[in-house]
Amino acid sequence: MLAKKEDSMTNQEIRDDPVQEPTSQTVHDPVCHMDITASSSAGNSEYEGRTYYFCSTSCTTEFNADPAGVLKMEAEYHRN
Ligand SMILES: [Zn+2]
Repeated sequence: MLAKKEDSMTNQEIRDDPVQEPTSQTVHDPVCHMDITASSSAGNSEYEGRTYYFCSTSCTTEFNADPAGVLKMEAEYHRN
């Protein structure tokens, strides 16, 4: 998303850390089962110590309305 205009000729920022930044990690939307990136998510919600990310505000609303129900459906979805 962010196009940093830095001098690419003198780019000496060599990172040996394989861990991605949290905002660019791939996350799973448990409502519609879509894989998205945390930075592009429309919303997020914390439930039982875990943070869930959503592709749209409607998914966020749906999760917040019944987090236990959504996660139960999610588990069943991935079981098949
Ligand atoms: Zn979604």
